[in-house]
Amino acid sequence: MLPKDQPTQLYRGRFAPSPSGDLHFGSLIAAVGSYLEAKRHHGEWLLRIEDLDPPRVVTGASSAILKTLEQHHLYWDHPVLYQSKQTKQYHQALKQLATSGLLFGCHCTRNQLKEHRLYPGNCINAALSLDYHAVRIQAETMTLSTRDPWQGVQRWPLKQAVGDFIIRRADGVYSYQLAVVVDDYLQKITHVVRGSDLLDSTPRQIYLQQKLDYPTPLYSHLPVAGGRNGNKLSKQNLAKPLNSATAPQNIFQALQFLGQHPPQDLERSSLTTLWQWAEENWKADHVPHQPMITVEFR
Ligand SMILES: [Zn+2]
Repeated sequence: MLPKDQPTQLYRGRFAPSPSGDLHFGSLIAAVGSYLEAKRHHGEWLLRIEDLDPPRVVTGASSAILKTLEQHHLYWDHPVLYQSKQTKQYHQALKQLATSGLLFGCHCTRNQLKEHRLYPGNCINAALSLDYHAVRIQAETMTLSTRDPWQGVQRWPLKQAVGDFIIRRADGVYSYQLAVVVDDYLQKITHVVRGSDLLDSTPRQIYLQQKLDYPTPLYSHLPVAGGRNGNKLSKQNLAKPLNSATAPQNIFQALQFLGQHPPQDLERSSLTTLWQWAEENWKADHVPHQPMITVEFR
């Protein structure tokens, strides 16, 4: 089934980095793509810091990210939302989901699950306590689909593609999927523009939206930057932090990556001139319809 139609309303996009390190060229692409889509629709662009998982948060990374965005003239609307301050809202959503009868407590160890691509259903009949163990949601038999402008029509038979997935970990940390769905709802996000590496999260998020009776935003997945080894450029494989001293060149290269054709002389111009060109000339249909593009220069 296709997501519910959105009533005519203000476009609201967002950028949601996790503060596990500095911004790099890969994250800049998602920022620039989501920003320009929001501007093209005369909408708003919100910023969310996904600092949900304490062990992954690097001290000082949040403020470094905000500073880097500002140095690239990527200015957001409304106050920044920090996931670490949203625990009550996530718990509320967990309680709401519990009324569906689809949640169960999971006591499986990492070892018990390591051979399985999908959750094997060991604990499906276990009682649910919201207090101490991991919580999963049962995947119902249904097919979810979206029409992605860059990645094409996506179809997910939920049970086979996703299986029963984690809503809250045993250590009490709410899952990325639940947190994102609650935050997108509370921030009234209408359009999610992000990297294709998050395509797999989309059916989980649409499913949770349906169970929570939230509207589903429109999802668009940009190509991600890959290294020569075919892996996504990421903090994990030590992509270089963005150098704000070369901000205009960084934006210029991000625009080129996204299939735009900024005139060559703009590479040496000011950020203001470059952004003005980008906002006037952004063409969403020029973005390559590919999940990944190899970049040679980083
Ligand atoms: Zn289990």
